[in-house]
Amino acid sequence: MSINRSLTLPLAALLSLWSAAPAAHALKIVATVEDVASIAREVLGKDGELITLANPSQDPHFVDPRPSLLLPLSRADALLVVGLELEVGWLPTLLKGARNGNIQLGGAGYIDASSFIMPTDVPTGPVDRSQGDIHPRGNPHYLKDPHNAVLVANGLAERFVSLDPERADAFRKRAADFAKAIEGRIKAWETRLAVLKGKGLVSYHKSLNYFARWAQLDQVGYVESKPGIPPSPQHMVQLIALGRARKAAVFATESWFPTAQIEFAAEKCGRPVTAVPGLPRSNQPYADHIEDVVAAFIKGAS
Ligand SMILES: [Zn+2]
Repeated sequence: MSINRSLTLPLAALLSLWSAAPAAHALKIVATVEDVASIAREVLGKDGELITLANPSQDPHFVDPRPSLLLPLSRADALLVVGLELEVGWLPTLLKGARNGNIQLGGAGYIDASSFIMPTDVPTGPVDRSQGDIHPRGNPHYLKDPHNAVLVANGLAERFVSLDPERADAFRKRAADFAKAIEGRIKAWETRLAVLKGKGLVSYHKSLNYFARWAQLDQVGYVESKPGIPPSPQHMVQLIALGRARKAAVFATESWFPTAQIEFAAEKCGRPVTAVPGLPRSNQPYADHIEDVVAAFIKGAS
């Protein structure tokens, strides 16, 4: 059996921290994905411990539910999910196996961060998952807009308060500090993002819509014919025609998607491919991640 050392060692280190219980009754939080984790870490500060399940270099829709992920879940006070069925392909198996009543769906320790934001792309008609659409309840990539990070931080603070009322002031102060810092950064980012206004965007997956709306990019199309569905040759022909007609300037993709089709489309439209960071790196502050995304787009559009 192969062991991924880069993943196994930090997890083991964190688990030994948990079992040592350094601060009495400090909240033990498990987050599914590194973007919600990066915000929760800011709100928790020293008043809790956090473990992220998914490797941030992999597509968060498709995570291997390794048995080693059961141990942190079995001991958690709360589970923080992105929601909108982002994790539906892998989390239910783990939740069942963890046998932890605190964190089951609807329990006091089950925190769905999508409940704090207003999702886009919510289907109005019936959705058939057998057709492969992996965004059946709306677009789950909402943390690419930092306005949503502020809403999530404030929502998390109140959920942490309900789990640990004695630390209420600390949770609320950290969320307020985070909101203030992000709002200041938003002004500076928007000044720089002005160069993107009205430019056409082609993305591999429907994962950059919230960013595109914030940056006032024109979302021309997607390489995938539906979220999670690779393109047909006919779809590629249509996408390239659209890209040319609407002068698409940025062809953006995350590292976990195949590269051949987006490279082909970009080349046909005379543009380079822009690699956009899909998630914060492990323990990377949320603001640093958005800075990386903003910088990648500005470079890609030049
Ligand atoms: Zn998606």
